[in-house]
Amino acid sequence: MVKTKGKVWLVGAGPGDPGLLTVKGERVLKNADLVLYDNLVGKGIVSLIPPFAEVLFVGKSAGNHTMPQEAINHILLENALLGKQVVRLKGGDPFLFGRGGEELEGLAEAGVAFEVVPGVSSPLAVPTYFGIPVTHRDCCSAVHIITAHGKAGAKPIEWEALVRAGGTFIFLMGSAALDEISVNLIKAGMPKHTQAAILERGTTARQKKALSTLENIVCEAKQAGIAAPALIIVGEVCAYAHKFSWIEQKPLRAVRIAVTRPRKRSAALSAALAEAGAEVVEIPVIAMRPRENIPALDRFFEELRCPSPSEEAKGDGIWLAFTSPWGVEVFFDQLRKKRLDIRALAKIRFAAIGQTTAAGLEARGIIVDLVPEHFSGADLAQALKDVVKAGECVLLPRSSIGSEELCVELGMAGIKYLDIPVYDTVPEHFYNQALGDTLCEDLDWIAFTSRSTVENFAQIFGCEKMIGKKALCIGEQTAKAAEEYGMETLIAENATVAAMIARLEKYVSGGN
Ligand code: SAH
Repeated sequence: MVKTKGKVWLVGAGPGDPGLLTVKGERVLKNADLVLYDNLVGKGIVSLIPPFAEVLFVGKSAGNHTMPQEAINHILLENALLGKQVVRLKGGDPFLFGRGGEELEGLAEAGVAFEVVPGVSSPLAVPTYFGIPVTHRDCCSAVHIITAHGKAGAKPIEWEALVRAGGTFIFLMGSAALDEISVNLIKAGMPKHTQAAILERGTTARQKKALSTLENIVCEAKQAGIAAPALIIVGEVCAYAHKFSWIEQKPLRAVRIAVTRPRKRSAALSAALAEAGAEVVEIPVIAMRPRENIPALDRFFEELRCPSPSEEAKGDGIWLAFTSPWGVEVFFDQLRKKRLDIRALAKIRFAAIGQTTAAGLEARGIIVDLVPEHFSGADLAQALKDVVKAGECVLLPRSSIGSEELCVELGMAGIKYLDIPVYDTVPEHFYNQALGDTLCEDLDWIAFTSRSTVENFAQIFGCEKMIGKKALCIGEQTAKAAEEYGMETLIAENATVAAMIARLEKYVSGGN
């Protein structure tokens, strides 16, 4: 028995779409010290590898061969023996033509602890993403999953037996052998007009298909330019693709887009993009660091403190204007630390720059008095100018790099204000260079939601990854920053997730 607590998890990453990683797989991945992955693992899943983990790419990269299986087995064993939590991410399911068994041999022999997390396997998931049910009561009662690429010396496929058994046939690792497969099936007695399809990179933004009869599929595949990784499916069920194709109806189905928002704030944008069919790669480039000591806020809270609950609340003539949900979060954390609650804020009026910030306040029991029609610092200043009376004061608990515009406008209007930096935004601690390169390559779009996301992206990954690339921007200021880095920009009509998506959909559908 080994004495260290090292352990290896073989985790099925599914066929590409990050939404198809299992909940358990994600949980395991988040605790990894070392992650090994290869080409079949979707980029959206690679981006979930925790920033503090060591990462090793063991697949084929331009000019380099895949790492030999023995070397991978050795790395798994060595690192587990060092006491690490090792995650081996594998495309689809680890045990289906995934050599998962081989990876476990050495571990079992050495008495190293391991677990296997099953994955959503490509032969089931990929046809689904093309509207092909692998079985259907009307036409087949069996499904066979076959590799067209066995170990040298393995028993050859018994084509006659296969054709006699009937059902749906799914061939993995067979795109280069499509010709051979179709010829053998026909020779073994399968009708030439049997429906067949070859499906490339299913569940990703690059998914592509050729659909035809067994006789013509090779020609169709050539015309469509199908390449590996792809799977071949033969059987009458392929005909349902015409009726049941569903992802092809989605407006952003061919879009691979990076979301650069901080992890905690990316959910809404990522989910809405995925819903519209996009393949989302989360690359957070910014993180929020709350300030521990905020003397201006401490003084303000002391002014609000009433010696007894029966006394009327203080704070007349004060506006609290929030420009981000983070400002709200830090403000209320500080309030609680001082052992005060919303009763102390009863006399205060509240403004929020936009709906998300307003929702953050509402969740804490405050219905906001003022939200400008358009979400920008200038619009918030304008809205405040209309309501703040002489002698009243606006407090701005916000980022230490909040836009100047808001203060300048308030100052010019003669409104008293106090800018209170309550948090700093810092570049997200980032992975190793190779992982960064993997995540950034072959993106169609990068979504930016603030000037600092643009600047941090450049700082972390380098400007050369931005020149000539397409940026989906939340507003003018963000777009200006992206243009400074030579990016082509698309600007949302207003600063909301819905408007960003609507803008991209319009562009993709040819509306410019
Ligand atoms: N363990 C994997 C299969 C590994 S074999 C699983 O369970 O899915 C690799 C083969 O799987 C590829 O050659 C291809 O035939 C198929 N494959 C994997 N992902 C695919 C995808 N997204 N689209 C099409 N075929 C895929």
